[in-house]
Amino acid sequence: MTETEWSAAVDAVRGLTPGPDGDEVQLICHVNPDGDALGSMLGFALALRERGITRLRATFPGDFELPTPYQDLPGVELLVPEPEAFRAPALVMTFDVAAESRLGDLVALLRAPCVVVLDHHASNTRFGQVNLVDPRAAATSVVVDGLLSRLGVPLDAAIAECLYVALATDTGSFKFDMTTPEVHELAARLIAAGISPGDISRRIFDTRPFGAMKLAGEVIGRATLDPTAAGGQGMVWTYATQADLARHDQRPYVLDTLIDPVRGVAEADVAVVIKETPQGDWSVSLRSKGAVDVSRVAVSLGGGGHRLAAGFTGHGTPEEVAATVKGLLAANLI
Ligand code: AMP
Ligand code: MN
Ligand code: MN
Repeated sequence: MTETEWSAAVDAVRGLTPGPDGDEVQLICHVNPDGDALGSMLGFALALRERGITRLRATFPGDFELPTPYQDLPGVELLVPEPEAFRAPALVMTFDVAAESRLGDLVALLRAPCVVVLDHHASNTRFGQVNLVDPRAAATSVVVDGLLSRLGVPLDAAIAECLYVALATDTGSFKFDMTTPEVHELAARLIAAGISPGDISRRIFDTRPFGAMKLAGEVIGRATLDPTAAGGQGMVWTYATQADLARHDQRPYVLDTLIDPVRGVAEADVAVVIKETPQGDWSVSLRSKGAVDVSRVAVSLGGGGHRLAAGFTGHGTPEEVAATVKGLLAANLI
């Protein structure tokens, strides 16, 4: 990221006319939003609101359903369902969106006079006029913090809570390789702004309905270990269906945490969780412990992500999806 790009983003925000007759600003994060997508977007939304930008909406494509842990995020009142997004905003800003394909029908808003992209995916396609994309950043919230400091916006407790949720989500609670000194330095500033890390972590990571726990038990119980996959590095995979969700009366997003216990399997470098979507295809999560670049598998199947955490949309039976991944892992794609 160059100083020219930072300045262009600062100018785009500073050039906005505030107030009820001012410019419309539309913030967008990726479909099926996670803590980084929502936290980064809402943290920046709060900063804009504090600067007097009142014609301000935040949204994401697809079903307007937030995972329970995110329903109390500060700034959540700025979220609107996709159909209520501004039609012709002066400025569009995207958060944690690696490619246009992650914007669904909101891709039409990229026709806005100014589009600023804030992201940290190496696979980012740089679809904005201004692209603040830092693949070395642990989360999009690190990029948001960089822009806020250049705008001279101080971190208050509400902004800090959003950015902390984003940072903690994408670093796996400060456990992943991307957990650099800069990550802890940002976390320190966020905590100093007055947030409660214990309360936030309990809410985001350590609270689930009883049915979600029972569902996780079944999905983990049907996992398959294939030690020969990925050139002998091993692959463990499992799947979860809409019927599983219905049986336990759970919402689809509860499946997104299932990758965590699965990726802990010692005998496999690669972990795969194949989650049926309400549309009947499969949202596939891939993780590697380091021997394999799973983003290459995901990208070759139309998805994206990072070297050690990636995803794509799969078709067919779960067995077929697993076989496709295994085939690509074996086919010198790694
Ligand atoms: P997940 O397994 O859903 O937590 O996603 C892991 C990583 O892969 C995230 O960085 C996502 O941005 C990326 N990712 C997941 N699914 C897709 C997809 N269908 N297309 C592009 N990127 C994806
Ligand atoms: Mn994300
Ligand atoms: Mn992210």
